[in-house]
Amino acid sequence: MSLRATGRSEAISGLSRLTRDCFVAVAPRNDSTTMSCIFCKIISGEIPSYRVYEDETTLAFLDINPTNPGHTLVVPKKHLADIEEADEETLCQLTKIMKKVGLSLKNNLGAPGYNLGVNNGSAAGQLVPHLHFHVIPRAAVDGLKPWPGRQYSSGEAEAVLEKIKL
Ligand code: 5GP
Ligand code: ZN
Repeated sequence: MSLRATGRSEAISGLSRLTRDCFVAVAPRNDSTTMSCIFCKIISGEIPSYRVYEDETTLAFLDINPTNPGHTLVVPKKHLADIEEADEETLCQLTKIMKKVGLSLKNNLGAPGYNLGVNNGSAAGQLVPHLHFHVIPRAAVDGLKPWPGRQYSSGEAEAVLEKIKL
């Protein structure tokens, strides 16, 4: 596998934000946001990466610190900070590519399963503020633990449901 730089840069135009009922226009990102973004630099080829898949809108590349070998990041080529900034079409495209990558991990690495994940927001562990989905190949026994769970206390599920029900 060799490093490949495309030298392409994305035109950052109007972004849209999905609200409960409609799309509303938000201001385009200024250049300083994308110029300082490490994933925008990977997309443009300024920083090299191992490219797993690429099309006009989406790039998938190997995570530099893989949880397991083959750990791939799937990103939109336009700079979007997080999932809330992504319109439905972008999310559909990202999901399609995640599925393709996951199948490749299964078929070509023999991974019986894979985790799909997004750390959305710094509180959730998002370190790079450019939307990205992790596709992590798993083995039946690979030492990774599922995230912890606990039981609801009495009335707690009803109370939280009341707050978040859509
Ligand atoms: P986050 O915590 O934001 O969900 O994950 C960011 C991921 O980006 C981390 O898993 C980290 O290893 C990966 N990463 C950070 N910088 C680079 C880089 O320069 N190149 C590549 N390929 N991956 C990176
Ligand atoms: Zn970016």
